[in-house]
Amino acid sequence: MEATSTVARTTKPALSFFDLQAQFATIRHEILLAVESVLESQQFILGQQVEVFEKEAAAYVESPFAVGCASGTDALYLALCTQELGPNDEVITTPFTFVATAGSIARTGAKPVFVDIDPETFNINPDLIEQAITDKTRAIIPVHLFGLSAAMHPISKIALKHSLAVIEDAAQAIGATYYGQKVGSIGDFGCFSFFPSKNLGCAGDGGMVTARDRDMADRLTLLRAHGTRQKYHSEIIGMNSRLDALQAAILRVKIRYLDAWTRARREHAELYARLFEHYNLSDVITVPKTPSSCGHVFNQYVIRSRHRDALRKYMQEQGVPTAVYYPEPLHLQPAFSHLGYEQGSMPHSERACADSLALPIYPELPADDQERVVRTIADFYKSHVQTNRGNGNHE
Ligand SMILES: *Cc1c(COP(=O)(O)O)cnc(C)c1O
Repeated sequence: MEATSTVARTTKPALSFFDLQAQFATIRHEILLAVESVLESQQFILGQQVEVFEKEAAAYVESPFAVGCASGTDALYLALCTQELGPNDEVITTPFTFVATAGSIARTGAKPVFVDIDPETFNINPDLIEQAITDKTRAIIPVHLFGLSAAMHPISKIALKHSLAVIEDAAQAIGATYYGQKVGSIGDFGCFSFFPSKNLGCAGDGGMVTARDRDMADRLTLLRAHGTRQKYHSEIIGMNSRLDALQAAILRVKIRYLDAWTRARREHAELYARLFEHYNLSDVITVPKTPSSCGHVFNQYVIRSRHRDALRKYMQEQGVPTAVYYPEPLHLQPAFSHLGYEQGSMPHSERACADSLALPIYPELPADDQERVVRTIADFYKSHVQTNRGNGNHE
């Protein structure tokens, strides 16, 4: 969207950061049929489409239970609600994530406690978790950022030792694996988002929580619909957070393509890595590395770069859109200022906010576009920062 507005100094057409039209074109007929069948049934709230999708999605993420809900944000909130948290409780998470992760903790009344990331993976550093645990700690929310699993074995071990719930924020990582296990099936809960820009996106907002335990799944089902099993009889205080039947029908079509789309994303990531090598950019660019234990699904392809803001501006002028996920770590944002964190307290997250840059990646991304993205980056470093190159000074 930013790409089209500021293509001032180039005659080349702007390329897309992300292109949902390209994907829709490949499945248009099936999607329209799915939507039509829901409209013909006039069954919009829960019902068969949602139930079948929940089964298919549970099978896909290899989790025994899945409960559809209204968004990824609600998925996190619902999972946290099962733990009956309040002002005397603390939940550990990363400050380098989308705001919903910590916002959901705060909404339960509990206190978010931030633990810095491992700069190699952008995910919570398990070695720093234990020192953040107090007698108030109740849960850990690791985030599988950009589609790469967090270090779940050490996290699970710590959680077991201290009797903490593990709630995986898998919003960006459906299909990602950790030692062969699908994310969302490793902790007690897995939280997924079907926001259109996620790897499995619906036509609006949607989400899902997976659970390992039948009683917990039952509780989630109650919580998402006013605590009712039987109409107008509430067993517990709940909310209205359902997955629409229309969205479930669309997701049932799209989930069958997800593995093929993930393969395409991985191929694009490999091509980027080869192109960066070809252009000899390793002293100014760090490409994402996938630990051998992990199957990355590349919801985003995020590099680390010198002179990030100048590079981004130059690329924009050349019609090459990029994005920054995330420009500001959560512990320094006004919404969490009451927690009292200071600048410098989470150095790796703060640095990642300053030097990370997301490049276009989506299944239908043309190879020519990727070549142009990397060539533009090479041009920037050749023409703009020759003198600074290799001085070891990150901007
Ligand atoms: C997208 C996202 C969410 C929230 O999902 P919504 O469906 O937009 O509410 C939560 N956590 C992370 C890491 C996300 O990327």
